[in-house]
Amino acid sequence: MSTHDCIFCKIVNGEIPCVEIYSDDNVLAFLDIGPVNRGHTLIIPKQHYANIFDIPAEIAPAIISTQQTVGKAILATTGATGLNIFMNNHPDAGQLVFHAHWHLIPRFSDDGLKHWPQA
Ligand code: 5GP
Repeated sequence: MSTHDCIFCKIVNGEIPCVEIYSDDNVLAFLDIGPVNRGHTLIIPKQHYANIFDIPAEIAPAIISTQQTVGKAILATTGATGLNIFMNNHPDAGQLVFHAHWHLIPRFSDDGLKHWPQA
């Protein structure tokens, strides 16, 4: 898929709106349009990479740093008592949008969601 067709590139470019949580030169965080829990957030590199295998190693520190800062902010603002951080790579793992992204899913006691990888 070209970056022209990529929905997350369109969000980065401002062609599609999002509820922005954090932005810097390399990374964007925004609310997921279909949250599985209150405060479900996505973190993406602003450059288009299809999945984790395409991401240059030098980008990784910015991604992890954003996971920490945004993750702490999510915990503080939602009152969540846990946080899942994960990504899907390739269709058989559930990847639907082929611009690398991490899910940050706030967790609450007895929120009814399963603990991965329990089916
Ligand atoms: P995946 O299954 O690829 O790991 O997850 C893709 C995620 O992107 C889904 O959770 C879906 O709700 C989210 N998503 C898809 N399109 C949009 C959009 O246009 N805006 C936002 N904010 N999230 C989106």
